[in-house]
Amino acid sequence: MFIFLITGIFVIILVGQFQFLVTNGQSVIPNRTDDKVVILNFDDSRKSQYTNAKPILDKYGFKGTFYVVCTYIGAKEGYMNWQQVETLHREGHDIASHSMHHIHLDKLPTKDIEFELSGSKKCLQDHGINAKSFAYPFGSGSDNKTVINIVAKYYEIARAGNDALAFLRCDNPEIQPTQTDCKTYTDKNGLTYANRYAVRAWSQDATRNENSYDDAALYDRFIQVVNSQSSYNNDGTIRAIPIIVYHNVGDQGTDYNTDLDLFNKEMKYLHNGNFTVLTMADLAYNDKSNYLYIKEFQPEQPETMAVVKSTPNFTEVPLTPVSTRSNVTESMANPIMDAFKILFGQQYYSR
Ligand SMILES: [Zn+2]
Repeated sequence: MFIFLITGIFVIILVGQFQFLVTNGQSVIPNRTDDKVVILNFDDSRKSQYTNAKPILDKYGFKGTFYVVCTYIGAKEGYMNWQQVETLHREGHDIASHSMHHIHLDKLPTKDIEFELSGSKKCLQDHGINAKSFAYPFGSGSDNKTVINIVAKYYEIARAGNDALAFLRCDNPEIQPTQTDCKTYTDKNGLTYANRYAVRAWSQDATRNENSYDDAALYDRFIQVVNSQSSYNNDGTIRAIPIIVYHNVGDQGTDYNTDLDLFNKEMKYLHNGNFTVLTMADLAYNDKSNYLYIKEFQPEQPETMAVVKSTPNFTEVPLTPVSTRSNVTESMANPIMDAFKILFGQQYYSR
């Protein structure tokens, strides 16, 4: 009788082990050898983004987020038409809203702010595009409660300026060391510096203007910015992402232009440096933790999230969950030993 009982327990444990492996197999996060990421933004629906930037993005297989201005499309010299926007969308680029008219939202009456946000959402929907994020024209409005509350009605996240890195916990130690998560409001009902509706990005065009950089200096600064994540993402977990904003590309003589050679060099640098290029649509917000996270890197099921205990917090983004994987390997190597460990009360999976 006792033998039957022991055998039965073993069978139950071994089946449990197998289920664990299957469940965990679904949650295995893409095998990556590096932990460098970047997001590329293209603002204002400028035509040169399609004619000049897209072929270079295509060459490296990179996808960008294009923040388009609805009333500019197909209506203004130097801007894309709908066919071009739809082609970008069809080819897997992320199309998002940059308002109806590209005006300072915080200077508008409430009903007009509402129109800039809901109208652009609808205009994109009419072209088969479900825009999830918004970028403030001129970067203005992200510090205004009325604007933010309307943005929140239509978009999951919104992009503001102008920091080198967006922190997934909004806890930039150099700029906002007292902030610990991405809640929109402080306890005293003030707006926080960084939140889901004020995701910080770096405009290299604005940086050039402010510093009068030539191409060589701007390239050096670009390299500095995209590598500034390395002190935060150094253990296989993504905590900070450089979001780079472009306007015109290879359109000499225009304002906010990046020379084609420079753009090519920058994309080549990302490619050679093994950067993973994400889009804004890859970002999401966890209402419980109040952290941002990267959808693609999340474990798929709540049970498996619990398994990935060794990472500091599942809302951060483990690229290579080494300790979880080593657990799996050990389990496969010696399930009988595991069964013994569990049988005798060892907390095997909680390391
Ligand atoms: Zn703009």
